Amino acid sequence: MNTTDDTPGTIDTSKMTQGQREALEMTESARAESGYRSFAGDLFMGRFSLDHIYPFPLQPAADVEAGQPFLTELEQVLKTEVDADQIDADGEIPDALIERLARLGAFGIKIPKEYGGLGLSQTNYSRAAQLLGSVDGNLTALLSAHQSIGVPQPLKLFGTEEQKRKYLPRVARGEISAFALTETGVGSDPARMETRAEPDADGEHWILNGEKLWCTNSLKAGVIIVMARTPDKIVHGKPRSQITAFLVEMNTPGVEIVTRCHFMGLRALYNGVVRFTNVRLSRDTIVGGEGRGLKVALTTLNTGRLTIPAACIGFMKRCLGYSRDWSATRVQWGSPIGQHAAIASKLARMAANTFATEAMVMLTSALVDRKNADIRLEAAMCKLWGSEAAWQAIDDTMQIRGGRGYETAASLKNRGEKPVPVERLMRDSRINLIFEGSSEIMRLFLAREALDPHLKVAGAVLDSRQSAGKRLAAALKAGGFYALWYPKLHLPVGGVPSDLTPACKPALAYVSRTSRRLARTLFHAMVKNGPKLERRQLLLGRIVDIGTELFAITATALYADALIKRGNTTHFREDLESLVKTFTAQSRGRIAASLASLAHNHDHEDYTFAQTLLDETRHAGLRDGIV
Ligand SMILES: Cc1cc2nc3c(=O)[nH]c(=O)nc-3n(C[C@H](O)[C@H](O)[C@H](O)COP(=O)(O)OP(=O)(O)OC[C@H]3O[C@@H](n4cnc5c(N)ncnc54)[C@H](O)[C@@H]3O)c2cc1C
Repeated sequence: MNTTDDTPGTIDTSKMTQGQREALEMTESARAESGYRSFAGDLFMGRFSLDHIYPFPLQPAADVEAGQPFLTELEQVLKTEVDADQIDADGEIPDALIERLARLGAFGIKIPKEYGGLGLSQTNYSRAAQLLGSVDGNLTALLSAHQSIGVPQPLKLFGTEEQKRKYLPRVARGEISAFALTETGVGSDPARMETRAEPDADGEHWILNGEKLWCTNSLKAGVIIVMARTPDKIVHGKPRSQITAFLVEMNTPGVEIVTRCHFMGLRALYNGVVRFTNVRLSRDTIVGGEGRGLKVALTTLNTGRLTIPAACIGFMKRCLGYSRDWSATRVQWGSPIGQHAAIASKLARMAANTFATEAMVMLTSALVDRKNADIRLEAAMCKLWGSEAAWQAIDDTMQIRGGRGYETAASLKNRGEKPVPVERLMRDSRINLIFEGSSEIMRLFLAREALDPHLKVAGAVLDSRQSAGKRLAAALKAGGFYALWYPKLHLPVGGVPSDLTPACKPALAYVSRTSRRLARTLFHAMVKNGPKLERRQLLLGRIVDIGTELFAITATALYADALIKRGNTTHFREDLESLVKTFTAQSRGRIAASLASLAHNHDHEDYTFAQTLLDETRHAGLRDGIV
């Protein structure tokens, strides 16, 4: 489905500003539906079907074996050859370390063996990201920008055989790659892109001009993927913006690094502004076809997005380790601080969230490997939920460590204390909520996908661009669907497998029940708001958050069930059971809060008030009395 024309059943863009319409139409035309079912997507329709995910797909023994030599060596390198505080202090990753990682194969983890890579699975890749995330965000970003979004993944998915043969062995060996989409005026909204590629008169080349911002790895890259606007295409008599992906060798005349960018954290990121001045590119540098650049980018990100939450698992385990140690040994007011309820609750949340993130990411990674499910929603939920949980974890860790959390590792060391780098970890992790899809954009993306089945059934009814006749016909058809669907949302629930570990059953019974409530809530919101629902971001955000929590509970319960049945060696059974119980209770609390604020909120008041803040002639008092 797309919205780029006035086909019945699409989003009504007629009341939007031109900028809004262009942004929406562009991303809509690049939506990549896989045709498979999505467990998380089904939740929003009140369907609780464990068909693809029960029993939890634990990593198969053969896959564990395939990844173990690499993962063991990577772990060893990270343990013995990486000094993350030094990397942070220098703002540089030692060349010898980059070369060591390249020799290990860390730049080609998922690149098929026939193209010189390790040919490992998504699950093994996620496990590598977890190891990296537990040690250093700079290394995670280096390897992730290179292969989650840089040249390897888009070429694997969309490259021609010739492109794969030419570039994949190079990047697998360690020639660094990058991905350049962002510009000064283009953050989350690619419709404003100004970098342009025009066909050359010879018909064989393209001429690229423009400037890309914040391109991670660009300072060290040999070849990068660049998104550029190419001439509009006429569709249904109207011009439609085109974005095309190009492979650009960094040594091509006209390519220049204008400046290196520096950030709050990730101080050794090789990130820069890249300028293109009349860069001549041959036709065969186009990836995925002319005008398909955004599809290349969005499809790449569908799985590429999993790297951040996978790294967050390692990061959170590190935070939890520091927090547990300090809570057990730091005595204040007569007892270890972990025995004070205010600290204990932070520990409980951090531990439960860590396990839940692991469950969500491992489940989604397994689904990627099985290739028989639509994982777009699950991956976005992992990114949204995992990065927010990781931020909560580092915030809690800082609070638990008190003044020592705020002190730098070097200063702690100078005073003879253990150099626990909470301050650096906090700086390094904040970006996870912004790049590869900010939390706000993830919620919009998830809301769009949650609404999709309804748009397919009833979009035309609400679409003011359609004739009265078409809308009436659509209403009759939609009425038929909803007459059957809606009553089912009130039928007794089921779907919890009888052979599930007893301690995990209540969690899934709750998800099954609540998914129906979620679907009813979404439906009521649609009926009440009509086409305006698309713009009710906070309302949709709460619905998305509930769906995401339900996915998290499901993954957690099924993961624990599988580990219990397998006879896990690192968790006691009672520990797994209490993780499920604790996480479910916490998650239910968040869901209850979201449901309550769906009914009672101050969204409208806040929005109206915020608009007055955008007017610089108002609220002068809020600027007064400061320097
Ligand atoms: C360290 C770092 C590394 C990066 N690496 C790369 C890279 O390798 N390649 C690359 O191409 N880019 C890269 N980026 C860019 C990154 O992906 C963008 O920062 C991100 O897409 C957000 O864009 P923006 O910062 O311009 O924010 P904007 O899009 O301007 O958004 C500002 C704020 O408004 C919110 N917002 C925007 N639109 C909406 C909306 N419709 N509804 C609600 N809220 C909205 C956003 O969530 C955000 O909170 C990097 C950025 C950083 C800081």
